[in-house]
Amino acid sequence: MGLIPWRLRKYTFQKGNKPYNKGKKYRNKTLPAEKGKFVRLPKDLYDLVTKSVHKKNVQLIPASTKSARFLRPKPPTKTEVEKCAENETKTGSEKNSFRLLRINELEQMWNEVFIEHRQISPMCTGFISWDLSAEQQRGAWREKASCNKCSYHSKMFNLYNEVIAKKRGRRTAAINLSIQVALNHIAISTTGLQKLFLGSNIPAPSTSSMQHSANVVSEIIEEYNQKDLVQKRKLLKEINILRGDNPNIINIQADGMYNNPIYSGMGKTPFQPATQCTYNMLENNTYKHSIVSTRQVSKLCSNKSEHKTKTKVKSHKGHCSANIEMHDSIGSEERWAKDCLLDLKNDGLEVQEITTDPDSRVSL
Ligand SMILES: [Zn+2]
Ligand SMILES: [Zn+2]
Repeated sequence: MGLIPWRLRKYTFQKGNKPYNKGKKYRNKTLPAEKGKFVRLPKDLYDLVTKSVHKKNVQLIPASTKSARFLRPKPPTKTEVEKCAENETKTGSEKNSFRLLRINELEQMWNEVFIEHRQISPMCTGFISWDLSAEQQRGAWREKASCNKCSYHSKMFNLYNEVIAKKRGRRTAAINLSIQVALNHIAISTTGLQKLFLGSNIPAPSTSSMQHSANVVSEIIEEYNQKDLVQKRKLLKEINILRGDNPNIINIQADGMYNNPIYSGMGKTPFQPATQCTYNMLENNTYKHSIVSTRQVSKLCSNKSEHKTKTKVKSHKGHCSANIEMHDSIGSEERWAKDCLLDLKNDGLEVQEITTDPDSRVSL
């Protein structure tokens, strides 16, 4: 130990000095609260930790003294799929994927490309491949080819056939509409089809474009179904004539189906839980029991905010998919049956016998 200057000696430890807190204990004193550590989480984890359980309640979860203290979040962690997508150009994994192409257009494309390449650079021995960086997806695909040795690039080729339309603008690929027709017959929709595509290693079409095609197709399907029902009612008359019966008299069976069973709200709500109903009327004259008339009833509309102020359906701007008021009784099958029977009446058909269940009051 070195020599301490004279002026500082009074501040040094003196022999026999007692510290002021020697032998004392903390009593009736709360210890300072332990504060959580500072952490910087990735955005996705940050949202999981801090956001409220109920989507409508926008308040953040209140922090307790023990909870960690969050700094501004980092960008979200990349999923394995995203990492693969980033390395696509390096690994060439896109070359392992599949496309939906029309054979006719594909044959024409390659023949045109080979002939053109030979004319432009006759001595080139390069490998002609698809230029995947330039490809365009319109449900079906537009592709172009390029050579890996010379600077040859072909034009873009539509590898699909188009729907003939009177409207101006780009024509739709026929496959977009035909897929929607098929989707109308099965229980999967846009998301289901996207999963099928991705599972088959085919790039999936976007949700918005598929919804657009679905809107176009569903109106046409409805129109053709109405025409088809008229044909079926006509056929019933002909069958009656061939059997030597009164051509205008038929027997029917009828019932309604709901998206939620009417009884499912028992004890939970005084209202009817169903929002959509389909009412079918089938003929009982032939062994096929074909549908001869049908009604689709819906209280659902994608523009639901409009219905808060305007109670009447189809009174707001844009498309309104609801066709009955919210306060209407969806279970009044009598009303839907009446509409169906009017269809039969317009085609000169009368009902002699009706088979149905007692909940519909149709027989009264
Ligand atoms: Zn070449
Ligand atoms: Zn509406």
